[in-house]
Amino acid sequence: RPRQPARTAKTARPAAAPLTEATIARQVDALLAQMTLEEKVGQMTQVTIDAVTQGKNRYSSDEPLALDPADLQKVLVDYKIGSVLNSANNRARTPELWYTTVKQMQDVATQKTRLKIPIIYGIDAVHGETYTAGATMFPQEIAQAASRNRALVRRGAEISAYETRASNIPWAFSPVLDLGSDARSPRQWETFGEDPYLISELGVQMVRGYEGDPNNIGDPTKVASSIKHFLGYQVPQSGKDRTNAYISDEALYEYHVPPFRAAVAAGAHTIMINSGLINGVPMHANYALLTKLLKQDLGFKGLAVTDWQDIENLYTRDHFAKDQKDAIRLAINAGIDMSMVPYQYEQFCDNLVALVKEGQVKQERIDDAVRRVLRVKYALNLFQQPNTNRQDYPLFGSKEHEQASYQMAAEAITLLKNTDNILPLKKTSKVLLAGPNANSMRTLNGAWTYSWQGEKTEEFAQQYNTILEAVQKEIGAQNVQHVPGVSYKMDGKYYEEYADKLDEAVAAARNVDVVLLCLGENSYVEKPGDLNDLYLSDLQTQLAQRLLATGKPVVLVLNEGRPRVISRIEPGMKAVVQTYLPGNFGGDALADILFGDVNPSGKLPYTYPRYPNALISYIHKYAEEQSKAEGAYNYEADYNPQYKFGDGLSYTTFRYANLTVDKASLPKTGQLTVSVQVTNSGARAGQEAVHLYSSDLYASLVAPDMRRLRRFEKVNLKPGETRTVTFTLPVSELSYAGPDGKPVLEAGEFELRIADQTTKFMVTE
Ligand code: BGC
Repeated sequence: RPRQPARTAKTARPAAAPLTEATIARQVDALLAQMTLEEKVGQMTQVTIDAVTQGKNRYSSDEPLALDPADLQKVLVDYKIGSVLNSANNRARTPELWYTTVKQMQDVATQKTRLKIPIIYGIDAVHGETYTAGATMFPQEIAQAASRNRALVRRGAEISAYETRASNIPWAFSPVLDLGSDARSPRQWETFGEDPYLISELGVQMVRGYEGDPNNIGDPTKVASSIKHFLGYQVPQSGKDRTNAYISDEALYEYHVPPFRAAVAAGAHTIMINSGLINGVPMHANYALLTKLLKQDLGFKGLAVTDWQDIENLYTRDHFAKDQKDAIRLAINAGIDMSMVPYQYEQFCDNLVALVKEGQVKQERIDDAVRRVLRVKYALNLFQQPNTNRQDYPLFGSKEHEQASYQMAAEAITLLKNTDNILPLKKTSKVLLAGPNANSMRTLNGAWTYSWQGEKTEEFAQQYNTILEAVQKEIGAQNVQHVPGVSYKMDGKYYEEYADKLDEAVAAARNVDVVLLCLGENSYVEKPGDLNDLYLSDLQTQLAQRLLATGKPVVLVLNEGRPRVISRIEPGMKAVVQTYLPGNFGGDALADILFGDVNPSGKLPYTYPRYPNALISYIHKYAEEQSKAEGAYNYEADYNPQYKFGDGLSYTTFRYANLTVDKASLPKTGQLTVSVQVTNSGARAGQEAVHLYSSDLYASLVAPDMRRLRRFEKVNLKPGETRTVTFTLPVSELSYAGPDGKPVLEAGEFELRIADQTTKFMVTE
């Protein structure tokens, strides 16, 4: 059906006044001056759509949601609530249904309330618009990190923003900038991995992709991002979600702050706070980190929203506040601007109004919070255009968008082992597909896919190819056998599995040339995904051992949110391919890699542990050289991972030469120029992510700087082609964070390393 240009012109009209930071600030002040205390507190409150429906309308995806006018009146007019989130009934729906749902609320907010302030609707669009049927679902962040491709990360976020806006939603709770250095975390897959520089670089790209150029305010294809979860969320001592982390100031500033600093500098509109605690203090009550560090030192101008019910948690979970009201006082005074899902929003609003009247929360704090909320609403142009319509977004779910998702998957999938170059496989091979991940869209996507835990993925993703379907397409169904051996319980917990024709799988292996064994995890996120044993499950291990015992070559395909320990089976595997959570086109991309249409180029964004008790990320270890030094204690026992950060093979080979450090511009710019020659020394074209590391060989603080990623760049080389890759590196970046967070640059020798090339550089007094 042809689009109607008139409609586009009408709904995508430019804002009345040009939107600049200055005009927005004036509009915010003018509006604020008219607001009552109750109206201000309403702007600081975010409720779930299920609170608006009050549990009524337990409708399926296909029915339009008719909100009860009395409920709308209560939430939006009586309590003046300024923000709503989530999808009713934890379920995806079409963009058209999203339009009517959000519009009903916007109509009341912009027509029936005294000041006609639009609501801001927020959603967990973390790898594409999670809750919209037909939206383009991308590989999850951990896979995106493996691509080492900044442009693809940015493109993915642009598409996600466009499709979220097509769903009439202007706010995405993404990206996650947490340090993904603990393999036990049920959300490691939501991170860009364990390196702060990698997280910073890709985080900035994602923020830009969502929000666009900072000067291009009001673009109706952009959303507000929400960098999260500030701060130190994914490293609790227990490895369990939302518990206490012990983090020294040095570590906080060295590893956790930099990604947030970079994203704040890139203009991120909103930030979400860590639901857990640092050193015994809940982040939601941490004035030093929320106000002093974030708002004052980092200069964050956007709005800080809590995580789910986290003001209440100060009282009910953490026993940090003496009651509900005290929790509100602590959180707002610490620097919280908006409360996500106060359990009883009425109580929250009434208590906060009372706290201000009693002088326990200052009027200025409220005004500051509301300014931040209104600023985002103006920047999104919601006052001029509270609704956006699917019809104005013709590229929603298009082939072009799908291609970008496929491309990301193809560049993310990481080849970790390839004995005797068994891969790529011949297209005439007869293969057995086994394992619980061989035929599941749910496992390819992970959680936050059409629902919270990803439990509704099969229902919405039928048109895409599982690994099995993609391999069948690649080499013909007649060459493919499929016997799971082990399956996940469809309606059980994510870790519940059962033997599913295990003996048949072993028997079938004898009749094929090669076994593609697809193991890993079912989808999960947050507390439900907590884990007590990092080893791959017993049943999957048993299936692998029995298949290996047949003597047939087995290719292990991993499809998992965190690196489950595979050392009991890995030695027998001919090849190992990590797919992470590669999204709706992960099956296709994998098949193209397995059968040689695509040359793999992904690199591990974390350290893959060999044992559950050896969870050491690469930045915390003693350098290997040092551990091998004469007379030294054998530190290799500490650091002996299954695979290292940055590992990832190709079907071609790359040779490095002539690493040089040019100091010519140092006196003027303070920068070094580091270059290296990379040659594609194999027979086929390939992409290589070039990593520059530095090591401080002698420092007053051991550990922080043994080896650190400083730069990376992905290059594409034809067979025989040589490219000189050049990085500029300010010497100041060789510093580490001192106890007060201030950088310390010590005189002495540094080693710079790219692949097998090393050189030294001397920092003088
Ligand atoms: C998660 C956040 C998410 C929020 C809203 C929380 O439980 O920790 O990452 O954005 O819910 O759904």
